[in-house]
Amino acid sequence: MKCPFCASPESKVVDSRPLEENNSIRRRRECLECHGRFTTYEIIEEFHPVVVKKNGSKELFDKNKLLNGLMKACQKRPVDPEAIAKDVEAEIRNSLKQEVSSSQIGDMVMERLREADDVAYVRFASVHREFKDIDKFMEELTKLKSERDAAK
Ligand SMILES: [Zn+2]
Repeated sequence: MKCPFCASPESKVVDSRPLEENNSIRRRRECLECHGRFTTYEIIEEFHPVVVKKNGSKELFDKNKLLNGLMKACQKRPVDPEAIAKDVEAEIRNSLKQEVSSSQIGDMVMERLREADDVAYVRFASVHREFKDIDKFMEELTKLKSERDAAK
């Protein structure tokens, strides 16, 4: 990124602002040579992580789908499913891996729900871990409870 005033290639970023509409980022830069300030617009490359499902099929990551699953788990609970979905999406994007398995995503969600709310956590876990029977379900609950007690 050359300075428009003195053509020096050295500049520092003084401010960054993402522009949601077109996946670009606006940066204010300051030239290290002449201290002239200029603005650049940088396009963020689109990143589409692929989700590998349990049966091996693949589909593009869809935050809304994740959100739907979360809404059910978080119904009438003091948890914001949108915030959790966003956070999980950010983790997937930041990992920059092209593929993520659905069970990894489930684990990411569970990690967060575990912190946020027991009921939402167990509800989500029962779907994600596909509890076959009530014993498995109770096992998870007991584990959660003893971890909580140990943390006290
Ligand atoms: Zn300059």
